[in-house]
Amino acid sequence: MTQDFAGRTALVTGGNSGIGRAVAGLLADRGARVVISGRDAARGDKAVEEIRAAGGTADFVQADLADLDSVRSLAARSIELGGGHVDVLINNAGIFPFGPTAEVPVSDFDEVYAVNVRAPFYLVAELAPLMAARGHGAIVNLTTMVASFGLAGMAAYGSSKAALQLLTKAWAAEFGPAGVRVNAVSPGPTRTEGTAVLGENLDGLAGTTPLQRVGRPDEVAEGIVFLASDAASLIHGAVLPIDGGRLAV
Ligand code: NAP
Repeated sequence: MTQDFAGRTALVTGGNSGIGRAVAGLLADRGARVVISGRDAARGDKAVEEIRAAGGTADFVQADLADLDSVRSLAARSIELGGGHVDVLINNAGIFPFGPTAEVPVSDFDEVYAVNVRAPFYLVAELAPLMAARGHGAIVNLTTMVASFGLAGMAAYGSSKAALQLLTKAWAAEFGPAGVRVNAVSPGPTRTEGTAVLGENLDGLAGTTPLQRVGRPDEVAEGIVFLASDAASLIHGAVLPIDGGRLAV
């Protein structure tokens, strides 16, 4: 395994579960000092223990991304843990309550936008200027295939990720000239702790893709880590579908 992230600090939000956990492990394997965030400290500590046992460097920082003060504290603590810098930001944490538009409580709507849009926005506001001042950095945002087409029951979720997709391009324009690359990954149905509640519906959704099966977190993580690495040096403002081909058909 290459050590191409040696000397770099990476913040992975939601790194204690699913896709984020896979990304944290892969970045640590490749030499990054990884900061994992989430609300569930037990899951966070377990992820840190596993990464350390495999020879990696990781810390867990508890943060509720629905709360702006918590978002800002997370950024500050990550900079501290990184010895003054965060080189990679993976905006992975997200929530996806589904349901008919007429039945979405205002509290759910607000929470979706707080966690999926406002938190990445202010993490970037805190961290990207520091990356820009050092002349390098990489940010990868997690969106979804349903940010690109309409699916009944996913209006609030899909629209929040569509906002994040546009932010990816806006930030590429804003921070790219200073050496900070901002990209996004758009996963299709992927089996995680978070999607377990969907049961067979996840398989049904995967059945609409050319691949015709549900993805694994490690398959999505590979694309995310590629975009965060120097191997993607020419890639700015891109949205990479990792969805078994769903957006192609
Ligand atoms: P998951 O297993 O449910 O994990 C979500 C992560 O986000 C958890 O680590 C959770 O940590 C964290 N999180 C949620 N709310 C939070 C909050 N208020 N404050 C802090 N952390 C919070 O999800 P996943 O399936 O791996 O999805 C990861 C990302 O990929 C999400 O952005 C999702 O929208 C996107 N995505 C997933 C799929 C899929 O099929 N799995 C498809 C397309 C896109 P705590 O619970 O500890 O807070």
